[in-house]
Amino acid sequence: MQNWQNEIKRLLIILVTVAVIGALLGQLAVTLLLALVTYCAYNLFQLRRMYQWLAQGPSSNKSAPPESIGLWGDIFDGIYRLQKQERKASAYLEGIINKAQESSAALEMAVIVIDKQNNLDWWNRASEGMLGLKYPQDRNLAVTNLIRDPRFAEYFNTENYDEPLKINAPGDSSKVLEFQIALFGAHERLMIVRDVTQFHRLESMRKDFVGNVSHELGTPITVIKGYLEAIMDNIDSLDEKWRKPMKQMHQQSNRMESIVRDLLLLSSLETRTLGKQQDEIALSPLLFEIKNDTQSIFEKRAHEFIIDCPAGIVVKGARSELYSAISNLAVNAAKYTPENGVVVIKASQSKQTIDIEVIDNGIGIEAEHIPRLTERFYRVDSSRSSETGGTGLGLAIVKHILARHDGELDISSEIGQGSTFNCKLPLARLISQRAKEEEE
Ligand code: ADP
Repeated sequence: MQNWQNEIKRLLIILVTVAVIGALLGQLAVTLLLALVTYCAYNLFQLRRMYQWLAQGPSSNKSAPPESIGLWGDIFDGIYRLQKQERKASAYLEGIINKAQESSAALEMAVIVIDKQNNLDWWNRASEGMLGLKYPQDRNLAVTNLIRDPRFAEYFNTENYDEPLKINAPGDSSKVLEFQIALFGAHERLMIVRDVTQFHRLESMRKDFVGNVSHELGTPITVIKGYLEAIMDNIDSLDEKWRKPMKQMHQQSNRMESIVRDLLLLSSLETRTLGKQQDEIALSPLLFEIKNDTQSIFEKRAHEFIIDCPAGIVVKGARSELYSAISNLAVNAAKYTPENGVVVIKASQSKQTIDIEVIDNGIGIEAEHIPRLTERFYRVDSSRSSETGGTGLGLAIVKHILARHDGELDISSEIGQGSTFNCKLPLARLISQRAKEEEE
């Protein structure tokens, strides 16, 4: 600002001096014109120097500006200072980008940026080996054209990225890849792909192992149980001291049989997918069947069983599996409710789900145990459970069955008041046609 005022002052002094000289010479107009032309020429000269300096292109960023004084000196220094700041900022950004690129190149997982038009924008080196992406040919190509598995297209387009997607690698079915997508910015996507082949192999080995062991144990247990049953039929002929151990062996062989049966069921639920051909299940008859079966097992407890289910609800699924899930819950409700309790099995339709609730007024469960109940072999009170003949696998089976039906289990309970186990199935499973027909 100081130099700007000086410049104005300087111009005024020159003009006044030139005007005085011009007046003395009697050539005021000519001398003023000469002075202004000289001033313009000086400014044009400085402009040319600046133009030439800037015209050096990127190198002008580095070379010092032409020497100058006054206002022009300030302008040159100002531009030079701004250039230096910009250079620093871009060097800093370049450093960050280089670091990000180097670290992502060192990653074993593929990292891919997809633009808002669903085209590939950027990817790291691992993506080239894992998905066969080629730079620059594949840049700006639609990601669904390069990964052609229909499950990927469905996952990508539905935009529900809560759970990762596992599919075989494109062009190499022996590999299993896990895709995880996150949305960011203006509807861009960051996709991370991991090779989970080894993990997948171990997981299926574990499933096979449990399945095989359970299967192999089946025959010896049946034989042992058969002999024990024969002995139990003639228990009176046995020496007194053998009676109690024989009874316990018989009880435990029954438990072993139940555990093996439940493990086999769990392993088949884990390994088989729910077929496309599914049953149309009328809920009301199913719930009455479960009620009758459970009531006959727990006859001595004299519970009151109530079914509350609109007649028209028909759902799509595997009937035997849904029977098993709800029946497990009904058996638990009867098991963990003292005599003369009330067990309600209720079905209803909410805005987003079909709810099948099993409600009891039994012993209830402390809040801390609820999140872990569906873990295998998890029991709130293991001594009580083994007394009641439980395997600790019932709720794990329920959870698996519901997951196979795209549903989930919701548990709420209050100690001493009772528990509610809610099987939530998505409305997509409701066969509304039949429901309407039956209402009419
Ligand atoms: P279990 O064969 O031991 O019953 P589950 O997996 O079916 O195994 O249940 C796990 C645990 O959850 C049980 O041991 C029991 O402590 C608790 N539980 C399940 N249902 C109920 C219920 N209706 N009321 C109280 N506790 C329950």
